[in-house]
Amino acid sequence: THTLRLILGDQLNADHSWFRQRDDGVLYLIAELHQETGYVRHHIQKVCAFFAAMKAFSETLSQDGHRVRYLTLDDTAGVDDLPALLQQQIDQTGALQLEYQRPDEYRLLAQLADMSLSVPSQPCDTEHFLLPFDEIDRHFQRDKAHRMETFYRKMRQRFDLLMEGNKPLGGKWNYDPLNRHALKPGDWDSIPQPLLFANPVDEIIDRLSRHRVDTIGTLSGPLLWPVNREQARQLLAHFCHHCLPGFGRFQDALTGQAPHRWSLFHARLSFALNTKLLHPMEVLDAAIRAFKQNDGIDLAQIEGFVRQILGWREYVRGIYWANMPGYETRNHFAAHRALPSWFWTGDTKMACLHHAISQSLEYAYAHHIQRLMVTGTFALLIGADPDEVDAWYLGIYIDAIEWVELPNTRGMSQYADGGLLASKPYAASGNYINKMSDYCQQCHYDVKAKTTENACPLNSLYWHFMDRHDRELARNPRIGMVYRSWDNQPQSQRDAVLARANWCLEHIDSL
Ligand code: FAD
Ligand code: SF4
Repeated sequence: THTLRLILGDQLNADHSWFRQRDDGVLYLIAELHQETGYVRHHIQKVCAFFAAMKAFSETLSQDGHRVRYLTLDDTAGVDDLPALLQQQIDQTGALQLEYQRPDEYRLLAQLADMSLSVPSQPCDTEHFLLPFDEIDRHFQRDKAHRMETFYRKMRQRFDLLMEGNKPLGGKWNYDPLNRHALKPGDWDSIPQPLLFANPVDEIIDRLSRHRVDTIGTLSGPLLWPVNREQARQLLAHFCHHCLPGFGRFQDALTGQAPHRWSLFHARLSFALNTKLLHPMEVLDAAIRAFKQNDGIDLAQIEGFVRQILGWREYVRGIYWANMPGYETRNHFAAHRALPSWFWTGDTKMACLHHAISQSLEYAYAHHIQRLMVTGTFALLIGADPDEVDAWYLGIYIDAIEWVELPNTRGMSQYADGGLLASKPYAASGNYINKMSDYCQQCHYDVKAKTTENACPLNSLYWHFMDRHDRELARNPRIGMVYRSWDNQPQSQRDAVLARANWCLEHIDSL
């Protein structure tokens, strides 16, 4: 062996230029690491999905004639961390150099950049993202507020997607106003059945218990997430055919009435994308092809989807790298409250939160609006410590890797970056949930009430949040106007709302 090449768990890109040639002097190393199972408490399905996908990737590489060494948690139990493992493998193989793909997480990037091995090491690109790594600083500056829409338009032009010359297809860049529909009872039957796989993971689960890996969430039966390229492609085709026709329209919808169709019109492609089983351009191409071929997919649907992949996904990565390190400790509102204990059980009388959390524990998945406007908004309103909020999101979701989790959680949902990523905090009362969902009809609480014993907690917590931060938020052009309705209420009414919020905060574990 002259070269050892490290492949991390989220670097499963079979099209990487590394694999164009076979070389018997190159040994690929894929390893289940204790440091990766322990840096946060992960969902059991997340650990299983990563390990199963890593193993499948190593088998594919071997079948293609590459030399691969796959190490399980048993094999790596004696080594302290990744650098120690690399040195051990260099000693065992006599490799003269180490090559690795640049990690997408600052934590791992720093660890690999700072290690001192007995042989030289050389990073290269992962060849995954659409915006090249060394161009990030041309679009994103540290401590500067950016807007997704500006970045997205540049990306549309750069990649010539949904364009007519230099103009956006159909004349508009953004069709959001046509979307944002709630699901009505008549729509329930049109929600597609999710495509679920049945990957056996018993051996992995045995290993996790043997090594006492502490996890959250549940896994009953085989793993339903895609763990290889073939499954990832099937899921992409399923999305284009069944979900894309309603994607934009119902992107923000929430429902408790479709327990077996829990992902609604969403793609569930984030795990396959974030592990790099799928390339973002492959996903965009497939979706745009489906739009061109299928009359049932209108422009508002495809534009909404392209914006997520070409816009949001690349944008949050830019914000992450421009502001790391340091972004992970930002706490604009100086929030320090603990999350309620029911974030780990779903055991709350609040129907919206009960549904979002139980579903997350059951499937390691919640769609964007569940993450942003249900759990995220609740954490924001109560003033939850962003460290704790981050750890929860980073652990529970199948797709959670820091470069994408952190800006979404700390930035978008908690506004802890003070507006670098988003122009306003996503604060909302029960009214928003009532408009976008059917939860309130089944809820123990009354969404119309603010101060009574059974008043929806979000209503008073919303005003408590707005009142706590009134100096700053009253000046924000996107939300300042809501203070008019607050200021117009008699003092006694405002006091009653704040008293109800304080009661909720004091009894948060039993809400
Ligand atoms: P769809 O709704 O079908 O969207 C399609 C794809 O667009 C996704 O697969 C994803 O790749 C991309 N996308 C959409 N929105 C975003 C976004 N805001 N940022 C980045 N990519 C986006 N996404 C993660 O991949 N990992 C995370 O750890 C993560 N944490 C989040 C935490 C919070 C608080 C919030 C509000 C959002 C988070 N997101 C995260 C973004 C988004 O919610 C998920 O990408 C999405 O729900 C994944 O499900 P899907 O594949 O069905 O997405
Ligand atoms: Fe959620 Fe309030 Fe509606 Fe209950 S009433 S589901 S707590 S918004």
